[in-house]
Amino acid sequence: MSEPSSDDLAAALRALGVRPSGLLLVHSSFKAVRPVQGGPLALIAALRKALTPTGTLVMPTMTDGESLFDPARTPSFGMGITAELFWQKPGVLRSDHPGGSFAAEGPLAAQICAPQPLSPPHGPDSPVGRVHALSGQILLLGVGHSENTSLHLAEALAHVPYAVEHPCVVLVDGVARTLMIAETDHCCERFRLVDAWLRERGLQQEGKVGRAHGRLCDARSLVSIACEQLTADPLIFLCPLEDHCEQCTAAHASIGRAQA
Ligand SMILES: [Zn+2]
Repeated sequence: MSEPSSDDLAAALRALGVRPSGLLLVHSSFKAVRPVQGGPLALIAALRKALTPTGTLVMPTMTDGESLFDPARTPSFGMGITAELFWQKPGVLRSDHPGGSFAAEGPLAAQICAPQPLSPPHGPDSPVGRVHALSGQILLLGVGHSENTSLHLAEALAHVPYAVEHPCVVLVDGVARTLMIAETDHCCERFRLVDAWLRERGLQQEGKVGRAHGRLCDARSLVSIACEQLTADPLIFLCPLEDHCEQCTAAHASIGRAQA
């Protein structure tokens, strides 16, 4: 099989249901998509073609929080090569959260990347919160819902009882200071439950993009279904204690002392 071109990938994205002129938040693993003629930049070009110039493309560019965050310089951490190349492109904006930044390009980029509170990083007043408010779509390319940041928005909206603090370096009166930022952190493996919830309601389109499995859903449907499940069981996304998952155990331990 020959390597797909950017046009081939754009056609696959449109077939999956990416809306022209829409707002699209993408979590991706280029390793799962490749090979592609032109590499990850061709994937970015394909996403742009599928969206058309009047669409807005958003990607997570989170950082390790260990050094002072500079949106123009600090590399992303664990977000993949596509997101790392995307935020560096001319004309792409990057939000200023020291740990939970996002990059965006298109007519809604300034709105998506507007300043936000430090905590929670993925609450209603954050890039993912704005993608949700503006009825955007979420695309997972070669990654599962365990990487889907918008599920943290559902946790914030449902007021889950857990929150773990992480250090972040920020400038306070011109001096670098380490602040603790509370977030609904855990291993996120149980975010994968969302596949079944969306599939049984026909709210997730799936198909191949390059070699990757793609999942596409509306942010509104995703968050609404996750909030429904969290209302029934606020701990549904945490591994049970008997699984001895280190991160979820820390989240369980935070219940009762978590700050709202
Ligand atoms: Zn866990």
